Amino acid sequence: MFDNQTKTNSYYFFLFWQLCIMVILHEKVWKNCLQVIRDNISPNSFATWFSPIKAVQLKNNILTLQVPSQFFYEWLEEHYIDLLKKTIKKELGPEGRLEYSIVMDSSSGGKNSGPFTVHAPTLNKKALKNPPVSMPLDLNKGKSIPNPFVIPGLKKLNIHPQLIDSYNFDNFVQGDCNRLARSAGLAVGQNPGKTSFNPLLIYSVNGLGKTHLAHAIGIEVKNNFPEKTVLYVSAEQFTNQFIDSVRNQNQNDFIHFYQMIDVLLVDDVHCLAGKEKTQDVFFHIFNHLHQNGKQLVITSDTPPVEMSGIEQRLLSRFKWGLTTDLQVPDYETRMAILQKKMYNDGMEIPGEVVDLIATRITTNIREMEGALISILAHSSINQKEITPALAVKVIDNYVKTSPREITIEFIQKMVCEYFSIPLEKINSRTRKREIVQARQLAMFFSKNYTKSSLATIGSRCGNKDHATVLHACKTVKNLIDTDKSFRRYADELESMIKVKL
Ligand code: ADP
Ligand code: MG
Repeated sequence: MFDNQTKTNSYYFFLFWQLCIMVILHEKVWKNCLQVIRDNISPNSFATWFSPIKAVQLKNNILTLQVPSQFFYEWLEEHYIDLLKKTIKKELGPEGRLEYSIVMDSSSGGKNSGPFTVHAPTLNKKALKNPPVSMPLDLNKGKSIPNPFVIPGLKKLNIHPQLIDSYNFDNFVQGDCNRLARSAGLAVGQNPGKTSFNPLLIYSVNGLGKTHLAHAIGIEVKNNFPEKTVLYVSAEQFTNQFIDSVRNQNQNDFIHFYQMIDVLLVDDVHCLAGKEKTQDVFFHIFNHLHQNGKQLVITSDTPPVEMSGIEQRLLSRFKWGLTTDLQVPDYETRMAILQKKMYNDGMEIPGEVVDLIATRITTNIREMEGALISILAHSSINQKEITPALAVKVIDNYVKTSPREITIEFIQKMVCEYFSIPLEKINSRTRKREIVQARQLAMFFSKNYTKSSLATIGSRCGNKDHATVLHACKTVKNLIDTDKSFRRYADELESMIKVKL
């Protein structure tokens, strides 16, 4: 029989032993990983990015690494995640996973805290990276490589695709306004260079989704064909790179660089207008890619027939494939876009406010999203509830409206709907208090928002004379100044009327 003391001792010994195993295990696993990593990266990078890492725990097949800062974490995720994941899986099997413990300095924490750590998962983003490609670049010339997206390797180059991962097809709401462009884009994304949509040219006015769709195509290609080299570039970036290459006398590198791309997405091609040399080089790149079965996707603000300042031979190339436009979305699509955005960003905004945005901003999705975010910001900064009145105020900053005609009938309808009273009541001779108030409000807003005379307003609101209308307006003003709840009614009604302007 063991006495109690012996039992306790052996229990502590057991704990100690477990602890030793755990310490040994995670350190051992990490040590093995480091050996592989060391063989795969330069000694400099190893010293900078891997020596400071400490393995702190191995639990449920999750290896936790402690890193010295948030920046460090982001850098590892950006540059070494593939290598890290591979080595960890090699050590721990397919279930092996990685987590971080990030040391934060006190400035980012509470008042008197010293350094503390936070946990962070590895971001499970689908890698939107291009595989390295060989390029006939003479790196020994000592000149800088003309492309800011190129990271020189020993023999190979990594071309950064410049894709924004949230601009994917899942987040691109379908509607009548974009049906053809969207499905053509999807077809291209699933079969780049193999459809007759080459080039695929998408045009529209500002803020209707050209850039989003171009990225979505690129992302779709990367999802289906990770080995393909995709590049998104705005025509402006393209121009600037070209100018740089002229300055650095390495135009050939510039052209070679673009000739290696499998799917080239050129945004806002109308920006090439009047830039003959850039158009020239783009023409050659276009031809080379097209002849080699590579995919081109182009966006612009007008269809090719209306593009001015672009060479004819380039325009005729644009017409080879499919030209399709994005139109202004209808109300349902606008609502769906707003709801998607709110869902993705975890926003909560009352339905009537979302409806207000979709009703009020009709021609530009970017403005619509801007208004949504701005309403949220206003409410959280000023600690105000999100009301239709607040929304209207914010929306006003986003739309340059030319006021539309508002009629007495429209105002009456609005007021009656607001107070849930039948329309005919307002025109009856009844003197019931709530009806009188509604009638007076209708008169007040009719005076402020229509060009009708007091006499006309009176005659249409229960057959009253102009003095009654004048009296009604004074009464409403008084009540707005003195009665809080009345002011709220008036404010809300006014917002609703303004929305329809
Ligand atoms: P453009 O390039 O035509 O000016 P963008 O592609 O920049 O327009 O789109 C403006 C904003 O509207 C972006 O935030 C984009 O995500 C959003 N957007 C446009 N169309 C849609 C859509 N069909 N579904 C969801 N969001 C959209
Ligand atoms: Mg754009």
